[in-house]
Amino acid sequence: MTRPNIIFIMADDHAAHAISAYGSRVNHTPHLDRIADEGMRMDAVYCTNSICSPSRATILTGTYSHINGVASIWTEMDYRVPTFIDALRGTGYRTGMFGKWHLGEHGISRPRGFDAWKIFPGQGDYINPEMIDENGRHTVKGYSTNIVTDLALEWIDQVAGAPFVALVHHKAPHRPWIPDEKHKHLYDDGAIPEPETFFDDHATRSRAARNVRMTLADDMGSDDLKQDVPEHLRGPENREARMSWKYQIYMRDYLQTVQSIDDNVGRLLDHLDARDLTENTLVVYTSDQGFFLGDHGWFDKRLMFDQSLQLPMLMRWPAEITAGSRCEGMITNVDFAATFLDIAGLDPDEALPASQGRSFRPLLRGEQIEDWPDVVYYRYWEHDDPIHGAPAHYGIRTSGYKLIYYYGAGLGVPGASEEVFEPEWELYDLNADPGEMHNVVDDPAFAAIRAELERQLAECQERFADEPYRSEDTPHPKWGPHDETAFARVRAYAERIRQTS
Ligand code: CA
Repeated sequence: MTRPNIIFIMADDHAAHAISAYGSRVNHTPHLDRIADEGMRMDAVYCTNSICSPSRATILTGTYSHINGVASIWTEMDYRVPTFIDALRGTGYRTGMFGKWHLGEHGISRPRGFDAWKIFPGQGDYINPEMIDENGRHTVKGYSTNIVTDLALEWIDQVAGAPFVALVHHKAPHRPWIPDEKHKHLYDDGAIPEPETFFDDHATRSRAARNVRMTLADDMGSDDLKQDVPEHLRGPENREARMSWKYQIYMRDYLQTVQSIDDNVGRLLDHLDARDLTENTLVVYTSDQGFFLGDHGWFDKRLMFDQSLQLPMLMRWPAEITAGSRCEGMITNVDFAATFLDIAGLDPDEALPASQGRSFRPLLRGEQIEDWPDVVYYRYWEHDDPIHGAPAHYGIRTSGYKLIYYYGAGLGVPGASEEVFEPEWELYDLNADPGEMHNVVDDPAFAAIRAELERQLAECQERFADEPYRSEDTPHPKWGPHDETAFARVRAYAERIRQTS
């Protein structure tokens, strides 16, 4: 059989609940829905560290942040850590990367393993962005989502014939949510429904979660809103009215940028049809993490609650995926690399020995995988971000429960919060409380469940070679441009797998 092409479209901060295929109450995305209708909607895909650069490094390498070293947005990728792109290129795939890279653009952190690449520096701009390629840095006229799609389609036309893998990485819908001119008319004021958990009072949550600086009410500022809060909405007595006012502006801008993604995904799918590439191309649509869209009164990501933890993931590959199918298997972004290698006909264990993920290809065919885990391990490391104030934490999600451990401040990280929290736990019963509104960690009725979840958490840390937090001396990935120890860790992990398998 001809080896399939892979088009991996990844948005930045696009939550599943802003896609109509996932039942969005706030927008309509007909072209993204087309991927679901002609392929599979994955309903339980999660990131392992809900923030931009770490998710991208995890996807490329099939490893957790503590292994690949990209634990925060301040760490750049170590070029020696192998990626699924390297492995595919080594077997004759043509490889292209267009749009947001966000793993460093200088020296060893530049995109590598690509026949063609063109990236935004850092976060990138929406309008007339600067871009970097082999020839240096220059301005490209136009709107970023259109530009990234154009670049990908031009390149696909050049290489089609050989199997190819194209990474199509949009800047949207990341801050600062600047729409394309043609979408500025969408969403009249007051038209966007507020989420059910909008006025969450956080009564039972940990102090760590209550203190994050990601609230619409008090933390979304004039930079994000592109205007000042009017006088009559200021002050604690106007909190709810202020939230509603901000929400309409925030969501209007966010959803306008999503609409451009939807248009451009439609353009890409039409292009594949016109070039007769649809049958033999796996098209993936996902995001680097989720996002709070006013849920629990928040915006942004980082925390382990489902809106931030869950990735949208739509996959179309007519050769193996039944149109309109659904998958409830619990998958993480650590599993993507192994799956793509498997689909390309490689043995993931040989092609990427240090990968911590597993191929979920049988799930795409609607088959069961006997020993597929019912637990996802998560760890957020970026303890020192003074803007969002989200403390480091780790935990697990199973199909029924979520256990979170906020292990306290410090960590010996330069610039870390001065405030020291006592370690705190949260536990959510996802069947009884899918909105994650009631922390039941101290409820005696859940004592046995908590003990079992703590056991599973320790098992995950053992399996993925992570260290539980014990003190400030606990090893953790280094902050700063490069974690020079990442390569050694990847090699050590590969060796451990070799010895135990
Ligand atoms: Ca992101």
